[in-house]
Amino acid sequence: MKIHEYQAKQVLATFGVMAPRGRVAGTVQEAVAAARAIGGSTWVVKAQIHAGGRGKGGGVKLCKDLKAVEAAAEQILGMQLVTHQTGPHGQRVEKVLVEEGMAIAKELYLSMLVDRNSKSVVVLASTEGGMEIEEVAAKTPEKILREIVDPTVGLLPFQAQRLAFGLAIDRIDPKLVNPAASLIAGLYEAFRAKDCSLAEINPLVLTGDGRVVALDAKVTFDDNALFRHKDVVELRDRSEEDPLDSEATDAGLNYIKLEGSIGCMVNGAGLAMGTMDIVQAAGGSPANFLDVGGTANAEGVEQAFRIITKDPHVRCILINIFGGIVRCDVVAEGVVTAFRKVGLAVPVVVRLEGTNKEKAHEIIDGSGLGARLVMADGLRDAARKAVSAAAGKG
Ligand code: GDP
Ligand code: MN
Repeated sequence: MKIHEYQAKQVLATFGVMAPRGRVAGTVQEAVAAARAIGGSTWVVKAQIHAGGRGKGGGVKLCKDLKAVEAAAEQILGMQLVTHQTGPHGQRVEKVLVEEGMAIAKELYLSMLVDRNSKSVVVLASTEGGMEIEEVAAKTPEKILREIVDPTVGLLPFQAQRLAFGLAIDRIDPKLVNPAASLIAGLYEAFRAKDCSLAEINPLVLTGDGRVVALDAKVTFDDNALFRHKDVVELRDRSEEDPLDSEATDAGLNYIKLEGSIGCMVNGAGLAMGTMDIVQAAGGSPANFLDVGGTANAEGVEQAFRIITKDPHVRCILINIFGGIVRCDVVAEGVVTAFRKVGLAVPVVVRLEGTNKEKAHEIIDGSGLGARLVMADGLRDAARKAVSAAAGKG
């Protein structure tokens, strides 16, 4: 789950990771009032969307007076902000963060993420702040520092110190080495305590007045741990999410939209992957990945039908369920009931394997739905039938 920059900064502040003073605003008037309350003589107005690259897209503006704050807020609020992370349609800006302007002495890069190779949290840092880390990794990989955190002891003080020296902070201002090291430690503590999957501060800045500040903050949480973080769940902004993704999350389904025309409904992630492969091998293309989980009951199938068919590209639905714990006849009943209830306009091909498979065949064949609901025999047959149904030759 992603959150906005202003929310990430609030979370991180409770762990001692400080950001410039700022306030969030939903209107131009609020933005001006925020700048006035913050005080000073320069401000930054920043679009709040769940995507990076806002600066380049015109979503971050440095302002030298209140008139400029007003103009920036007017321009940014309500804009459709396009960045390399939003896709071509961009994302509508509903809120801006107004912050005190910082006198930047040096921009650095700092992030933490779960590294699958070392099975640990890894800390990445670089002197090349403000740039995209992918670009740094491609052009000057030697400029990326790494510390692997042993999960049994956490990030050790010497590792934070080593990063601070590796970033040459002592050469810019020796007094900032310790504050930088404790910020790194604080970020790790936040990452661990809140079950993050990513925490990125780009840029982390050393200011002219001797502070170490998170100028930007991006935090992503591990969805599988959200059950133990009610406070984090409250930060969810559904308007930023794809509506189909939100609905699937609410229904407890594991759904990922793809570009093809064959909607897939499968139990188990591995089987779902296999189904997508065989659809592709048969000359079709899957419209989604959907794991309905271990139990495929009528309600689950109904919700899955509703989500799959909201995608206008879907021409056919392929159900591939292995009846191990759940019996095939129960699934078949659920499919017929859900088909009628939803009033499906696209044909459905069903492949059921496992306990009571024959009974399931009888239920599907006797449904009276004819060519709109057909049973397949085996995965290859199912893929072939789905591909030809999607091509309108069903
Ligand atoms: P992103 O483009 O979505 O990553 O947004 P950032 O929050 O990283 O802002 C982009 C850039 O704007 C930063 O790399 C800074 O160079 C610049 N910027 C942001 N805040 C300030 C500020 O307070 N003062 C100055 N001088 N530049 C800023
Ligand atoms: Mn940034």
